[in-house]
Amino acid sequence: MEEYIEEIDKCIGCKTCNSKCPTFNISNNELEAPDVRIQIARKVFSGEEISENEYNALFSCTKCEKCDLYCEAEIQISKIIGQARNQLFKSGHEMLSGHSNLRDGILKLKNSTKGDHEHLLDYLPENFENDEDATTLYYAGCLPGYFLKNISTTAVQILKKIGIKFKVIKDEICCGSPLLDVGDIENAKKFFNENLKIFEENNVKNLIVSCTGCYRAFKEMYPELIGKTIPVKHIIEVIAEAVKDKKIKFKKSDKKVIYHDPCHYGREFKKYEEPRIVLQEAFKTLVEFDNNRDDSDCCGADSAARAGFKNLATKVALKRIDDAVNKADILTTTCPFCTFNLSYARRKNERPIDVQYITEIILNLIE
Ligand code: SF4
Ligand code: SF4
Repeated sequence: MEEYIEEIDKCIGCKTCNSKCPTFNISNNELEAPDVRIQIARKVFSGEEISENEYNALFSCTKCEKCDLYCEAEIQISKIIGQARNQLFKSGHEMLSGHSNLRDGILKLKNSTKGDHEHLLDYLPENFENDEDATTLYYAGCLPGYFLKNISTTAVQILKKIGIKFKVIKDEICCGSPLLDVGDIENAKKFFNENLKIFEENNVKNLIVSCTGCYRAFKEMYPELIGKTIPVKHIIEVIAEAVKDKKIKFKKSDKKVIYHDPCHYGREFKKYEEPRIVLQEAFKTLVEFDNNRDDSDCCGADSAARAGFKNLATKVALKRIDDAVNKADILTTTCPFCTFNLSYARRKNERPIDVQYITEIILNLIE
């Protein structure tokens, strides 16, 4: 805790971070300014009581990391906020109802969407042949596996077209990262270990995922918290490799497409080119947000922010939609949560732009 307090005390009060924060810029709630959020975290680390509004300001942060990038004193603002959230959970602070629902659902049903495990593999297309001997697993993840099934259906269809040897398993459970988002480190670790055990039992040596949250979990959270993991690729990386190796070709669509960089897949892992390589092959016109790549704004859903603050998350997403609406016919991304939140904001506010996950828009363009 001392270490975090020292880091917070490096703040010079320049407020550069505030102008970059997608949640603060929408809510204008002074408690949600990044420089104020870290002072609330400081109180948590010092054992001081915080108010309900201060608690909410910590949990409405999407941990998008944009503030970190611009902090004049190089303070890891989002990490500090995350640690304060973990500390609040550990101290038994009452959770937001949306977060306790999310956690209870994962602990009981082993997925974050309250889906029926019996129906997980319903996303598989007719005539799908499972390659039982393959050591590569297509790991659908909760949202594509149970709720936005077209994301996983189109993923496995594209993998087959490329000629990748892979399998799916009915034993798949949540990667565990949403538990970390609500501060429950101990249960997150249990899920991390259980997942690795399931992979071992099923002779799985590496993963292909559609979800950037799962990607980040396996790439970063597993090694950090339990010291082991499994190699993972996002499906767009596999598709971009297939394009480079000329294993697939596209008939170019005339529609204009715009790409939204998901926070962690972009800012953290710098996976900016793979989706663009594919979209440039599949569409005649790829346009960009004014703020793209490192400077991309969060969709508003990340880090369980939508589960706790749906209205704010929808307003943040609407800003992103409005930034795109006059530029393109289709807004696409590589994150199921961004797809879900952006689609919801578009539908609720009747904006004239299509929002779809990247494999949904490219499948039918493959020759
Ligand atoms: S991580 Fe994102 S949402 Fe959280 S304070 Fe920083 S800029 Fe704002
Ligand atoms: S950018 Fe960094 S140093 Fe400046 S106010 Fe924000 S937290 Fe403090």
